[in-house]
Amino acid sequence: MNQRALQILQDVFGYDQFREPQAEVIESLLHGHDALVVVPTGGGKSLCYQLPALLRTGTAIVISPLIALMQDQVTALSQWGIRAGCLNSSMDFSLIAETEHQLRSGQLDLLYIAPERLLQPRTLSLLEGSSLALFAIDEAHCVSQWGHDFRPEYLQLSQLANRFPSVPRIALTATADSRTQTEIVERLELREPHLFIQGFDRPNIRYRIGQKDSAKKQLLKFLQDEHPKDSGIIYCLSRKRVEDTAQWLCDQGFNALPYHAGLPADLRSHHQHRFLNEENIIMVATIAFGMGIDKPNVRYVAHLDLPKSIEAYYQETGRAGRDGQPADAWMVYGLQDVMFLRQMLESSQAADEQKAIERQKLEAMLGLCEITSCRRQVLLSYFGEKEHQPCGNCDTCLEPVPVWDGTEAARKALSAVYRSGQRFGVNHVVDVLMGKPNEKTDRFAHHKLSTWGIGKDLDKNQWRSVFRQLVARGMLGVNVDQHGVLHLTDKCRPLLRGEEKIQLRKDQRKSVAYTKNQVP
Ligand code: ADP
Ligand code: ZN
Repeated sequence: MNQRALQILQDVFGYDQFREPQAEVIESLLHGHDALVVVPTGGGKSLCYQLPALLRTGTAIVISPLIALMQDQVTALSQWGIRAGCLNSSMDFSLIAETEHQLRSGQLDLLYIAPERLLQPRTLSLLEGSSLALFAIDEAHCVSQWGHDFRPEYLQLSQLANRFPSVPRIALTATADSRTQTEIVERLELREPHLFIQGFDRPNIRYRIGQKDSAKKQLLKFLQDEHPKDSGIIYCLSRKRVEDTAQWLCDQGFNALPYHAGLPADLRSHHQHRFLNEENIIMVATIAFGMGIDKPNVRYVAHLDLPKSIEAYYQETGRAGRDGQPADAWMVYGLQDVMFLRQMLESSQAADEQKAIERQKLEAMLGLCEITSCRRQVLLSYFGEKEHQPCGNCDTCLEPVPVWDGTEAARKALSAVYRSGQRFGVNHVVDVLMGKPNEKTDRFAHHKLSTWGIGKDLDKNQWRSVFRQLVARGMLGVNVDQHGVLHLTDKCRPLLRGEEKIQLRKDQRKSVAYTKNQVP
């Protein structure tokens, strides 16, 4: 290894040794090669370009979409004595002018720029008049149109290939399956890049996914029992739920702050700042929060709503335990989540091709939820790592899931949906199965159906669990425009024809007593 690189690692950054694959990445950049680096969150990607920035002549240009974090990064680098600056739309003119002057006169080791700023003709010609060490394109998965963080301006970064042919470019991301990796290389027009793809496993994170019965109570128990004084992130799907949950946690005596795109920018950055700099703060957030957040001791990431894909789940949970100490990825999900996400997906304006991909991704996410074997194995095999043994550090490993032969129940459920005309939601069909009259069963004379009351052997919650699993496995579809109306899909045919059996998870419902002032 390059002696000078090691020297800088120790003298400037204060680390003893390189982590995988930092040394190789740096070596490759020093030789002027392009590179793609896929390393899990917390793996130490920044150093891969920060260190070469000090060794190569000229300024390293770091392209990042995260304007809110640029100043933090610049400040952190300054503390190591590294000359860094940033250019973004939140800065005033005189500061921009000063930074541009520093760049031109070679006084900067690193310069952080947001992509839209970089692509302005003015900035491009400024760069052409300066000496450049390298381009680092952070969060490079944003170039992928099918990913969850697509940013159109990333597509235009391919310009750099032609405008700056002699400046090496390094693309970095924490999440990219092999298809996204190929997309990054192609769309950024990386030239014979060296690939550094690191394992996705985060062994210190314990994955748990449970059935949602009363999300807030379950969350409260989790926090009280396991993380009463820790920093953590709680993800919710909607802004309203973020605010409700944050307020409710405060009422329960926690330091919870809301974060979502609907809050004023200064409040958001204030909350982010507090989360990064104080301990024992819970950030309750939508997915707007988190990209690029480097807080090493986040002890848990909790999901109160189902993420849209395994990539999103992996990236969000990956913000826990960056220091390598034990951390929890905790989630509860229920049938409502599945319906809601399906509904959003189907009613979105996206092209059919994109919808099909999103549908597949959601199916994979549901598969992870409903799996009865090791979660980590499923997670890692999704990213192409199929060789892992059961991990011993996820809920299904620690407490093997009891399964039951749900063939008969599933057939009853499917035929109850069918016989009632595929026009009703879960609650109604469960009433039919259990032979419980309600206003609608009366109105539609459902007590005359052959499926009326054939499901008295299971209780309401057990039936809901059966339906959730059938929906999750795609045997039942949920109609878009009508609230939760169920219909049969082709996937359930083999089961109905008696050619297939189905194993279902036995959901263990820990009965919890409600008291009046605890909102379920
Ligand atoms: P990533 O961008 O991959 O998520 P970062 O670059 O933010 O990760 O690094 C994560 C943490 O690891 C940071 O706190 C960083 O200071 C630390 N780190 C990086 N490289 C090393 C190293 N070689 N030795 C020790 N700590 C390191
Ligand atoms: Zn496991």
